[in-house]
Amino acid sequence: MSPLGIFGGTFDPIHFGHLRTAFELLHALGLAEVRFVPAGQPPHRDVPLCDAMHRLAMVRAATADQPGFVVDDREVHRDGPSYTVTTLRELRAGAPARPLCLIVGMDAFLGLPQWHEWRAVLELAHVVVAHRPGWAAPEAGIVGDLLAARGTARVEELHAAPAGRILVRPVTQLEISSTDLRDLIVSGRDPRYLLPDAVRAIIRDTGCYIRQSTR
Ligand code: ATP
Repeated sequence: MSPLGIFGGTFDPIHFGHLRTAFELLHALGLAEVRFVPAGQPPHRDVPLCDAMHRLAMVRAATADQPGFVVDDREVHRDGPSYTVTTLRELRAGAPARPLCLIVGMDAFLGLPQWHEWRAVLELAHVVVAHRPGWAAPEAGIVGDLLAARGTARVEELHAAPAGRILVRPVTQLEISSTDLRDLIVSGRDPRYLLPDAVRAIIRDTGCYIRQSTR
């Protein structure tokens, strides 16, 4: 049974850094699919600038033509903070033996000990950490110890067990962030070539950032 990739994020907005990472991992790890899970209310950060329904629409538009990319809207429809552990428990209940691979960038991985029930996350899924410009894997501390204990470089190990390993993986380094994109869009500049044209069209046609920024 091929592993299921799970890629959570605020996606405010989704960009080519997310998409290229997911695409490379889909193939390199032999994943059955990559499931994009936009957060409704992300627990560890400010309220997103764009509302959840428009962020979800942008994720759908960005992923529509790629086989193996799937959009999972459960967190957008769930009340309260979008805890990853809740999503993983639900996915695990539906697939008791299938390997689950939670995909995170290095910056997000470094914050893992601040996540709600973070130790349970590793009981429910493997964690696949994508390199991200400006962020390095730690050698000490909780996350460094975790890497030493659970780290693997072998993709086969992600297929051999349902959860519990950590794999750090290089991907093409695209120095794009949603924060920079929001600044760019709100200041009236064009995000073209940093995100898909279909996402750019939603931003332009709905005014989902401009309207929020003038509140
Ligand atoms: P923000 O700047 O608002 O924090 P972001 O660009 O980091 O947003 P998120 O939606 O917060 O995007 O990220 C979702 C996941 O994608 C996180 O695990 C993050 O580390 C990862 N990610 C985001 N951008 C990149 C990138 N350019 N390369 C690799 N991983 C990325």
